[in-house]
Amino acid sequence: MYSRSYALYVDLHENPELSSHEMQTAAKLASRFLDLGYDVTEHVGGTGIVAIMKNGAGPTVMLRTELDALPVEEKTGLPYASKVQAKDPAGHDVPVMHACGHDLHMAAIVGTAAIMAGSKNSWHGTLMLIGQPAEETIAGAKGMIDDGLFQRFPKPDVAVALHVDNLRAAGDVGITPGVYNTNADGLRITIYGKGGHGAMPQTAIDPIVIAARTILALQTITSREVKPGDMAVVTVGYIQAGTKNNIIPDHAELGLTVRTNKADVRKQVLSAITRITKAEAEAAGAPREPLIEHLEGTDLVYNDPALAQRLRGALEVSLGKDHVKTAEPIAASEDFSFFTAQGIPGFYFSLGGADPEKLAQATAEGRMLPSNHSPLFAPDADPALHTAIAAEVAVLRNLLNGSAEELRKNIAAVQNAP
Ligand SMILES: [Zn+2]
Ligand SMILES: [Zn+2]
Repeated sequence: MYSRSYALYVDLHENPELSSHEMQTAAKLASRFLDLGYDVTEHVGGTGIVAIMKNGAGPTVMLRTELDALPVEEKTGLPYASKVQAKDPAGHDVPVMHACGHDLHMAAIVGTAAIMAGSKNSWHGTLMLIGQPAEETIAGAKGMIDDGLFQRFPKPDVAVALHVDNLRAAGDVGITPGVYNTNADGLRITIYGKGGHGAMPQTAIDPIVIAARTILALQTITSREVKPGDMAVVTVGYIQAGTKNNIIPDHAELGLTVRTNKADVRKQVLSAITRITKAEAEAAGAPREPLIEHLEGTDLVYNDPALAQRLRGALEVSLGKDHVKTAEPIAASEDFSFFTAQGIPGFYFSLGGADPEKLAQATAEGRMLPSNHSPLFAPDADPALHTAIAAEVAVLRNLLNGSAEELRKNIAAVQNAP
């Protein structure tokens, strides 16, 4: 079982697909689930898949993996490194890499599916495995829900997912009760100027200079406007303008990501971005107000504290007490929040992916290992995949036990505790 999961991991890593284009990836997972005896439905919300195994009365528990990879050129030097190129939504050729570790999540869920199918006496209820497309573009969870995920299939009593990272050692998992991550907003800003000859700036209004001033002014939102202690990140992740050194272009485009963990701070930061961007354009005499587009937004992922408390015990028994850590909230985004927003208590936990020796060395030297989305992100798959499967099986067996009513009561009792 494990060697088949590992082989699937290598295959998926070598053959990544971009968000919303996970056709081969979804087909590979669907055929594995079918072979294991699951009822499989494909093309749920695009390339999404749902695999269900009913095993008597009991709760319904959903376990989710993402399917998509990123437009990143892999530089890990691994023997199974991706060399895949694909077209991005704008039609540009881009390299593709599983730089977020979703390949590991998929290999794990298939291993877990095999163990659960082969040990039906150890649990009862309905197991619902989903392969969700387009997590990286924050479109896939919503797409599946809009396509009737919780009407066409049973609505789960609990939703579970994990995510690999390089912040902890392979072999460990991290649990964050309560707020796990941040609100995330993606913006595209187009600043308009007036094009002209690079040698005759007096005939033009230079959008590159406006963009440069805007980028610097945006840095004052977190340093000067947000209350110290409140969390906020404003990152300009790309700037695109111009074609040639002696031409002043007529517009410049910026791509931003904004992270916050409180609703009022989110509102404050987004409105400051609008105010500053408009004012900088006006100060430069721009012919048009900038266009500010809100491309995507996700709410933070909230880990039900009752579930976290209950499942911590199950994970400690399965992995050993020393391997279950309490983890800090992180500034990342995740559309898993769309599932929990449907009123389903969620448990989203972290899976260590770092080579323990490399992590210890980096920590001693005050360095960070390459993070998710880095061209160098290479989780220590062999132990991490084992741990992922063991952890998922432990969590599922714990939840798929007793009745749905008992499970709901157990969660509510802790929620209502003072
Ligand atoms: Zn990612
Ligand atoms: Zn991810």
